[in-house]
Amino acid sequence: MVTANVIGSGPNGLAAALTLAQAGVDVTVYERSDTPGGGARSVEATLPGIIHDQCAGFHALAVGNAFFSSAGLEHYGLQWLTPEISYAHPLDYGRGAAAYRSVEDTVREIDDPAWESLFGPLSRKFANISADVVTPMLQFPKAPVDFTRFGLRAGLPANVLAALLRTEESKALYAGVAAHGFRPLSSLGSSAIGVMLLAAGHAVGWPVAKGGTAAIVDAMLQALQAHGGRVVTGAHVDSVGELSPADIVMLNTAPEAAVKLMGSRLPAPIAMWLRKFRHGPAASTVSLAVEGGIPWTYEPTRRAGTVHVGGSLPEIAFVERQINKGIMPRNPYVLVGQQSVADPARAKDNIHPIDAYAHVPLGYPHDAADFIIRQIERFAPGVRDRIVAQSSRTTADIEAENPNFVGGDIVSGSNTMHQLLFRPRPAINPYRLGDTGAYLCSASTPPGAGAHGMAGYNAAKSALAELQR
Ligand SMILES: Cc1cc2nc3c(=O)[nH]c(=O)nc-3n(C[C@H](O)[C@H](O)[C@H](O)COP(=O)(O)OP(=O)(O)OC[C@H]3O[C@@H](n4cnc5c(N)ncnc54)[C@H](O)[C@@H]3O)c2cc1C
Repeated sequence: MVTANVIGSGPNGLAAALTLAQAGVDVTVYERSDTPGGGARSVEATLPGIIHDQCAGFHALAVGNAFFSSAGLEHYGLQWLTPEISYAHPLDYGRGAAAYRSVEDTVREIDDPAWESLFGPLSRKFANISADVVTPMLQFPKAPVDFTRFGLRAGLPANVLAALLRTEESKALYAGVAAHGFRPLSSLGSSAIGVMLLAAGHAVGWPVAKGGTAAIVDAMLQALQAHGGRVVTGAHVDSVGELSPADIVMLNTAPEAAVKLMGSRLPAPIAMWLRKFRHGPAASTVSLAVEGGIPWTYEPTRRAGTVHVGGSLPEIAFVERQINKGIMPRNPYVLVGQQSVADPARAKDNIHPIDAYAHVPLGYPHDAADFIIRQIERFAPGVRDRIVAQSSRTTADIEAENPNFVGGDIVSGSNTMHQLLFRPRPAINPYRLGDTGAYLCSASTPPGAGAHGMAGYNAAKSALAELQR
């Protein structure tokens, strides 16, 4: 029987493990932490019974992708719950903008028909586009026309694309989603992540997993077990050589960690590329237990799953430039997750879990909780009085919990144009670590960050194809 060792049980490690196990491979997953799941975990971070998604909370790129479609996780209890408004963007004086599932409702809210002409066609062709975007870039697209239409927008600096929008509201709404890329909005390719998430928002929404993101991991673990696989927790692996030999090795790690794990087995040119891999800015998080939820002044924000806090397009462009230069801004861009909007059972006795993070420079050493709460308060006066418990994590805490988030880089590698196209290195098959039977399958490989499992699925499929050859 073919055997596989998987090092790391993040969503990509588990997706690789499950894909291999479904093909009849005998799989063992080794996880350093006491609980599996990596950046897909839910914890009682503030009060007993209040479940927080401390890392991934929203799963726009998971719904319907090739891995989730093949995994059958709904048979193991996974259920998506989708808010009516994917993301909202409050502005001063009670104004704001909101991205509804429907493009038409969004255009009405932001009073800007240019939103439809720029993003409507992409949203309608989202299934085709996403199928090509979640594979390595050096492959011919299956839907070249739709992919080109996407590429023409994705390749642009976000502030250039924003200039084609007409109202302050629509520009801010777009800046908020583009900032997910952690790049200066003036840089080439800084539209890529935002345009993809935006199109997903209209096509499938930004859903949460019922009961918490850990429900995804629970379902993956049950499915893996049903296919004969196993997970060993509390097992930090220092070298692939310390494990029982296996035909396939999957590394669900950062690229530089993979170099160490492989040691002299790794061909020198690949080791060189992996050492050159760059990490971008970082995040610093706070979990809040808020009585009655956040009292946003702009009403649609109360119905949104995600809230982008940072004010106008120029304000967001300024602070994203600063964090990329290593400077901590006074009013950082903040992302707020309100999971109980879609999943009301997550609130207990009217106490709502809120998970927020600020964009900060890589390795920023201080607690950013106060920056975050001050930014929220700007658009939701009185929020401080409603906070009944809180806990925060610095970039160092985030890395200590999970070494894949190097320096607090939660997107597993800077989204420069080069690393968007060729992560972690230029290669037709960027997962393959030479002729070693080992593959890198973390979010530092295509298609990048997210609890969508596609890096693990693609790496496992290429290992299986190679085995057949
Ligand atoms: C605050 C925050 C918010 C986020 N929000 C979202 C969101 O809303 N939506 C979304 O899709 N994504 C979000 N993400 C990103 C998402 O969590 C990651 O992109 C995703 O978890 C990456 O998955 P992965 O499987 O590649 O690796 P990880 O999830 O990082 O898992 C890697 C695993 O490998 C283990 N490991 C590493 N080295 C070793 C070793 N040597 N031996 C044994 N085990 C090892 C680690 O302990 C970890 O469990 C967020 C992340 C953070 C931190």
